[in-house]
Amino acid sequence: MNSLSAPEQALASGHWVKLICGASNQDLVAIEDLSGLYSLAGVHCIDAAVDGAVVEAVRRGMAWAAERGAGRPWLMLSLSDGVDPHFRKAWFDPQACPSSCPRPCERVCPALAIGAAATGSAGVLAARCYGCGRCVPACPLGLIEERSQVLAAEAVPALLAELRPDAVELHSQPGRLAAFASRVSQLAASGVPLRRVAVSMGPEGSATRVDALATELWQRFVVLREAGYRPLWQLDGRPMSGDLGVGVTHAALHLLEGLQPLAPPGPLQLAGGTNAHTLAGLQRCGLAHRGSGAGAAGVAFGGEARRRLQPWLHAAQQRGSRLLDLDDLWTEALESARALVGPWLKDR
Ligand code: SF4
Ligand code: SF4
Repeated sequence: MNSLSAPEQALASGHWVKLICGASNQDLVAIEDLSGLYSLAGVHCIDAAVDGAVVEAVRRGMAWAAERGAGRPWLMLSLSDGVDPHFRKAWFDPQACPSSCPRPCERVCPALAIGAAATGSAGVLAARCYGCGRCVPACPLGLIEERSQVLAAEAVPALLAELRPDAVELHSQPGRLAAFASRVSQLAASGVPLRRVAVSMGPEGSATRVDALATELWQRFVVLREAGYRPLWQLDGRPMSGDLGVGVTHAALHLLEGLQPLAPPGPLQLAGGTNAHTLAGLQRCGLAHRGSGAGAAGVAFGGEARRRLQPWLHAAQQRGSRLLDLDDLWTEALESARALVGPWLKDR
């Protein structure tokens, strides 16, 4: 009998699919809807921000799917080991606001993160803001800016202990090995038994050459092994570009093809530029199955996963409801989610 969990089996057999949902610029209702529908479509993992409100939304979506027979995906929480465009929050100086302003920023905030009642100062309450970005264009005076967020080292162990993820993803960049190692020690201090620690890196910055990127990954492999964590390598071909078409798929495949002979042990998963063309591209390159000796253990979908459900998310919003409560809509949306995920789940 195979004692591996379904997500581990999927990694071992090249069938792994992860949903990236709620790292930033997404609202809580959409996070819940996407989590529910993609859980029911069969994803093995949902990757979200280290934020209590986001995690609650993901878990409500997973629970909805479980009621309909879905397995429970891993909850993976994403952190950065330094400044990273994926992690940001809104900020403005309330002293600069005219007293006559009708405060549209407050009205559009889905997290109730703006306003004197929430914050005591009429600015943004950082603990509630999850970086959806809605308030930025709402201000007629352009006073709201988005600021990068790097979680304080001392906050990480308690947050993880509270949110209890199954796995963590560390976004890193070349040259930040010491910061990466520091984050890993914070994971250990949380006491949370993590199934995997994913490392998200791409060829941006100084490590544009594949061999330089491989060296950076090997350094992180040593850190993870010493801490007793099992790695998962997320190759970010072109971050947040998966809805752009076949061109970005080639970039992601090219990165995998170059890196996989040089990479440290552990599953290689594609992200950034992944979309409905990715699997066919892998099959053409002979890189579709890590279990056969080489290739991708799986894929992560972010922008493409959301883009294809957008019409139904929008229709539900127009009706003032979450999509998961509208049977006539979610059944259609599920078909679209399955069309993206399903080919990865089949034996090939
Ligand atoms: S403060 Fe702005 S960015 Fe933050 S959750 Fe509210 S609307 Fe979104
Ligand atoms: S909309 Fe702009 S000016 Fe008005 S309260 Fe919000 S941040 Fe201040």
